[in-house]
Amino acid sequence: MADIVQVTGFILSSMPVGEYDRRIVILSKELGKISAFAKGARRPNSHLIGVTRPFIFGTFECYRGRDSYTIFKAEVKNYFEELVSDLDSVWYGYYFAEIAEYYGKENLDAVQMLNLLYVSFKALTNKSIPNELIRFIYELRMISVNGECPDFFTCRGCGSHDKLDTYSYTYNGMFCSDCHSKVKDGIKLQPSTLYTLQYIVTAALNKLYTFVVTDEVYEHMVYAPNRHVCMASLPGMYEHTITCNSLSKTYSITGWRLGYLIGPEEVIEGAKKVHDFLTVGAAAPLQEAAVTGLNFPESYYEELLALYTKKRAYFLKGLDEIGLKHNVPQGTYFVMIDIQEFLDLPQFQGWTDLEFCEWMIKNIGVAAVPGSSFFREEVNHLIRLHFAREEKTIDEALKRLKKLQELLK
Ligand SMILES: [Zn+2]
Repeated sequence: MADIVQVTGFILSSMPVGEYDRRIVILSKELGKISAFAKGARRPNSHLIGVTRPFIFGTFECYRGRDSYTIFKAEVKNYFEELVSDLDSVWYGYYFAEIAEYYGKENLDAVQMLNLLYVSFKALTNKSIPNELIRFIYELRMISVNGECPDFFTCRGCGSHDKLDTYSYTYNGMFCSDCHSKVKDGIKLQPSTLYTLQYIVTAALNKLYTFVVTDEVYEHMVYAPNRHVCMASLPGMYEHTITCNSLSKTYSITGWRLGYLIGPEEVIEGAKKVHDFLTVGAAAPLQEAAVTGLNFPESYYEELLALYTKKRAYFLKGLDEIGLKHNVPQGTYFVMIDIQEFLDLPQFQGWTDLEFCEWMIKNIGVAAVPGSSFFREEVNHLIRLHFAREEKTIDEALKRLKKLQELLK
């Protein structure tokens, strides 16, 4: 008796064979890519007639033959009818299936490819995402799943993970700003482009085509040579980006709690309903006053940035003079201080960053925010300070922080 197997997957292609039959290629979870014979599938009364065309996702029962399978039963889970009925999308669908057929092999694990196909076909039925964009994402992720993706994370020249700014076809990877002069065919990539490429090859598949929610509250506090790029301004991104912004930082009115969303109309409609249930509305007189701020000339933003650039330099210089280890913020008015060498002292053994911050308030007179509240990972050695204060306040804080550094002596 023939061996019966059951597989779940997509039909990638379907070819007529002889007078009444079909040969289909299935990308399956269990067996990778297999080829199966569908006997009589083109006879008008065949139960296989409607279930042996491309893009069908389902469970197929087959007899295992010597060098092929013969399908005798199919249970469809998704016909992808919306995809099939749209001429433009259907060509993309065929193209996607062709690539999957190229990479698929019998007994080669195809779970990732299957999931990628599934979310990509779904995306093709979503009219708010341009098909061309779906195609680029699909292609890049597909070559990544199959191990042929360029390395977007390491410099081909020196192995560094930082300052990557140039892509090379010849080296199939990135170069950092120290090494990019070595490549002849270098293409300069914006940080946002690199981020997008990195995102596409690493994002969870179910997130690949979903909305991006960005927090751009500090858009006007980004220090040279860095600059802010609004995600929604990137090609094809407006339609699936929700930009969250606030007036708090830009107009120094943190207590007013005023902010706004920018996004496609259909998304904002939903957000308005939620907003109505949560807060009804922000105080009307404050909104009126904020209009004045929104009409400020360009020079206001330049002055704001110049002011914080100066404060940042002043505060960081003070920290360096004391000898506290810190990062150099590319934006915002926050600085992270590395407190590991303090936690290594006998009196702080086993302390959390929270306990250290509480101790600092009482004994040093400077309040910091424990860094662990900003990380998903186990981080305990960072605390956050901010420099949005007058120079004399910053001076006093630095004077007090000096007492902290003296513990190390
Ligand atoms: Zn390098």
